[in-house]
Amino acid sequence: MYEVEKKQLYEAHLALEKYGLVSYTSGNVSVRVNDHVIIKPSGVPYSQLKPEDFVVVDLSGNVIEASKKPSIDTATHLYLYRNVSWARSIVHTHSTFSTVWAVIERPIPVLCTAHADVFGEEIPLTEYASVGSEAIGKAVLKVMGRSGAVLLRKHGVMVLGTSIEDALKKAIFLEEVAKIAYFANLMTIPVPLTNVEVEKLFEQYHSRYGQRRETGS
Ligand SMILES: [Zn+2]
Repeated sequence: MYEVEKKQLYEAHLALEKYGLVSYTSGNVSVRVNDHVIIKPSGVPYSQLKPEDFVVVDLSGNVIEASKKPSIDTATHLYLYRNVSWARSIVHTHSTFSTVWAVIERPIPVLCTAHADVFGEEIPLTEYASVGSEAIGKAVLKVMGRSGAVLLRKHGVMVLGTSIEDALKKAIFLEEVAKIAYFANLMTIPVPLTNVEVEKLFEQYHSRYGQRRETGS
C-alpha cells in the first residue's frame, strides 16, 4: 500500500543525504495520508534504504504494514500529527549548524532575508526532552510558531510541513540560515532584522515568490 508515497519518502531521504543534513542512519522523514503515517524504518543506513522498507502506522502507533520496525521517533511524529492539523510531513535531523544552536541552547535570530522569507520568526528552542516517547512532541508544541521549524534542545531539529516538499525545503533552508547565523556570531554580535521587516518579507515571500501554480495557489 501507498507505493507512490513510499517512493516520494524514499527520495526525500536521499535528498536529506544529498544536502548533507544526515549521516549514516540519523534523521527521518514521515508523511501523513489521511489517518495513516508512513515513516522510515529504525536503524537502516541511507545506503541500504529501499522504498518498500517504509513502515505504515495509524495515528495511535498501531502497525498497519511493515517488514521492519518503525523509527524510534515514531511516537514524536504521531503526537505532532495528532495535534497539528495542517502538518502533512515531518522532517527530523541532527544537521550540524542547526544542532550547534540547539546544543548551545539559543534560538536562531532572524539575521538574513532568507530566514525572514521562509520562516518569518526566530527558530524557537524546546526544553530538553528524551528520545523515544511523546516528550519531544509535547516540548515542540509548547514553543512552535507559524514556521513549523523548531530546535530540539541538545538534540537537533524538527520541521513540520504541509507536504513532503514543504518540510524538506524548510529543513534545507533551516540549515542554511543556521550556518549564516553561526558565522555571523563568530565575527560580531549581529543585529537581527526588525519585526516589521520580517513580517513584510514573510508576507511577500508567501504571497508573491515563485511560479504561479495551475491551481492558482
Ligand atoms: Zn534525533
